[in-house]
Amino acid sequence: MHPVTRFAPSPTGRLHLGHAYSALMAHDFAREREGTFLLRIEDIDPGRTRAAFVDGIFEDLLWLGLEWDGELVYQSERLDLYAAALETLKRQNLIYPCCCTRADIAASTSAPHGPERQVYPGTCRGLAEPDLDRPHAWRLDVAKAMARAGPLYWMDDHTEAQAEPERFGDVVLARKDAPASYHLAVTVDDAAQGVTDVVRGRDLYACTDVHRLLQALLDLPTPAYHHHVLLADAEGGRLAKRHGAPTIADLRDQGMDPAELVEGLRAGRLPFGYSLGRD
Ligand code: GLU
Repeated sequence: MHPVTRFAPSPTGRLHLGHAYSALMAHDFAREREGTFLLRIEDIDPGRTRAAFVDGIFEDLLWLGLEWDGELVYQSERLDLYAAALETLKRQNLIYPCCCTRADIAASTSAPHGPERQVYPGTCRGLAEPDLDRPHAWRLDVAKAMARAGPLYWMDDHTEAQAEPERFGDVVLARKDAPASYHLAVTVDDAAQGVTDVVRGRDLYACTDVHRLLQALLDLPTPAYHHHVLLADAEGGRLAKRHGAPTIADLRDQGMDPAELVEGLRAGRLPFGYSLGRD
């Protein structure tokens, strides 16, 4: 079978070296196996998405020589698909509306921390008459969903992982300000686009537990996952733009040769004392 991989950046800033590495891994995985490499623009966060960053993604990938196949997909044009998935979960009684604000959740002493942030304490779960006139998100009742789905597993390279989505608590599937969350949109799209192999950074490893649960509930296939190591800076810290990592555009402006950069990334030879993290 020829694999289908994808690079799925969120246009909330310019791409940096970590993105380039991730795109390259997904690209090479497909190219080495006569597969297909897709590009999906994850632009459903209205507060953070900018059109100029979308153009920047094209510019940077093409400069690096990473051409994608087939039609470009914009999540902002696929809201109907996410709404239909939400409706399916609603019919199964597995989601509930939630009017809590971040401040409400932060103020709750019973909210432990999960892999991403504070776990939602379940305040709105089981409300007899939720107020749908107030701005509300939709949350997955994870315990109920897990009871419905039973034990779930997924493969990361050749290692089996057991999904433990309850660590995230009742995740948001549709936000107050956006009709779908990352978890819902990514799961629906990977299936709709026929992605067979999800190649992405280890920072998203834990999220796979939630995606695996959504696949089970929505009757979608489970791709194989390949979470790659993250780039580390000279001090061993995670490379991220907010820490001042140079963008691909900066490197281009500095006159860096893209072919050399890409060969270096493949060989784990990185500029500025950066390295491939161990995990
Ligand atoms: N859009 C996500 C990000 O930029 C990546 C989604 C994914 O690869 O699953 O972090």
